[in-house]
Amino acid sequence: MSERPVKVRIAPSPTGYLHVGTARAALFNYLYARHNDGKFVLRLEDTDVARSKPEFIQPILDALKWLELDWDEEIVFQSKRSELYAEYLERFLKTDRAYHCFCSREELEAERKQARADKRSMKYSRKCLSLSKEEIQAKLDAGEKPVVRVKIPEGATTYEDIVSGELTRQNEELEDFIVARSDGSVTYNFAVVVDDYDMGISHVIRGNDHITNTFKQIILYNALELELPVFGHVPMILRPDKKKVSKRLGDKDVGEYQNEGILPEAMINYLSLLGWSPKVDNEIYSRQELIDLFDTSGLNNSNAVFDDEKLLAFNFSHIQKKSDHELAVLAAPLLVDAGVTTKYWLETRWEFLRQVVGLLRERLHRMSDIVTLGGYFFDFDYTYDPKAEAKQFHAEGAQLLSDLAERFEALDQFTHDKVEAALSELAEERDIKKGKIIHPTRLAVSGMSIGPGLYDLLVVLGQRTVVDRMKKAVEYIHQRS
Ligand code: GLU
Repeated sequence: MSERPVKVRIAPSPTGYLHVGTARAALFNYLYARHNDGKFVLRLEDTDVARSKPEFIQPILDALKWLELDWDEEIVFQSKRSELYAEYLERFLKTDRAYHCFCSREELEAERKQARADKRSMKYSRKCLSLSKEEIQAKLDAGEKPVVRVKIPEGATTYEDIVSGELTRQNEELEDFIVARSDGSVTYNFAVVVDDYDMGISHVIRGNDHITNTFKQIILYNALELELPVFGHVPMILRPDKKKVSKRLGDKDVGEYQNEGILPEAMINYLSLLGWSPKVDNEIYSRQELIDLFDTSGLNNSNAVFDDEKLLAFNFSHIQKKSDHELAVLAAPLLVDAGVTTKYWLETRWEFLRQVVGLLRERLHRMSDIVTLGGYFFDFDYTYDPKAEAKQFHAEGAQLLSDLAERFEALDQFTHDKVEAALSELAEERDIKKGKIIHPTRLAVSGMSIGPGLYDLLVVLGQRTVVDRMKKAVEYIHQRS
C-alpha cells in the first residue's frame, strides 16, 4: 500500500461529453480525497488527436462544476507534456524492456491476417527483438523511423486491487505493445504511467474496463522502476436491462440530467451508491455525509445499475430537503427559460415565487416540473384541460363559479379560512357537495384538474387574480355553449 499523501485524479478524455461512468469515477476519487484531506486533481487526456475535440472540454468542466466536484490545482493537459514524456521515453529506452521495431504496416497486417487464419488473437511476433545493435543503428542511420515496444516479461503480473483483492494476469496474454509511435509521441498507457507518477497520484480509482490497461501500466512502472499507485477498479454502470451504459444505447451525458431538473446533490448521492455501500441502512446522503462516510472498503464488485426512475426518487428526496427560498432560486431560471414569465417580473415578486414553490414542492420530482405543474401561477394564457372541461364547465358550473366569484370579491380578507367558509356556505345554501364547486373552481383558476389544496392555491394566487380568472371562465362557458 502506498504511504504517499493521498492524491487522486479524474482523467477524462475529451472525446465526448461527461458520461455518468466518468462522473462516478470522479465522485469516488473526490470523496476519497476529501475524506482523507488529500488532493483531487483533473487531467485531460487529449492526446488522441483523431478523437479528442477541444469543444468537449468546456462541457466536461461544466458538468464537473455542476456536480461541485471541485478539483485542486491547475488542470493538467496531456497535450502539453510531450517534453516530459520524451524524457521518460529516453529513460525507458535505456532499460532492457524497450526495443525498437521497424516493422512496416504491411508486415504487421500480414501477421494479423495469419493470426486470423490460425484463429488466435494477434500478438506481435517480436521479429525486431532479434535485431542486432548494428542492424538497428544501420536502419536508424538510413532514416528509418521505428516505434518503441515494451518487451513483456515472462511469468505473470499480480497486484492487490482495493475493490477486487488480488488480481493476476498471465503476461503471455499481452503482446509487446507500442509505447511510442514513429514520430516519437508516446501512446496512452505510457503517458498515463508518466503522468500518474509525475503528478504524485497515490490511488487510481477507475472503471474496471481499465483492468487490462492496469496490467500493462504495472509492467511499465516496473520497467521504469517507479513506485506504483494503489489501484481500485469499480464495476461498470449498467442499464436496468443489464446492458452497459453507452451513448450508442441512447444514454445521456451528465449535462442532460442537469437540464432535466435533476439536482446535483441527488445525482452525486445516487452515483455514490453505484458500486459503493456505506454499510448503514440509509440511502439519502448530503455531500458532507458522503465525504464523512466514504471509505474504499465500501467499494464493491456487484453490478451497478443506473435506473432513471430511482434517480428521480433520489431527486424528490433532495428537493424536499431544500428550503422554499432555495427552491425558488432553482425554479426562477427554469420558469424564465420556459417562457412562462420573465426575470423582471419575478424580481419584484420573489415572495410570490417562494409561496408557489412552497405549495408545489411535494409534487416536484424534477425541478423542471415547476413549469408544468405551476406555469399557471405566472402565465394567464393557460388553456383548460379538455377532459376536465367536458366534465366541469357546464351551465350549472358556470352559475356556481359566478356566485362564488361574487362572494370571493366581497371578502375583506382573502385568507384560507375565509375562502373556505365562503365556498362551504355556497355549498350548504345549494345543498350540494363541496366537490361540485371545488372542481370547476380549480379548473377555472389553473386550467388543471389536479394540484395542491385548493384554498391554499387560491390564497397564493390572490383575490384579484382568482376573481378575474373565475369570471373569465364563466364567460368562456357562455361563449362556448
Ligand atoms: N481517459 C481515461 C478514460 O476516460 C481515463 C482512464 C484512467 O482513469 O486512467 O476512460
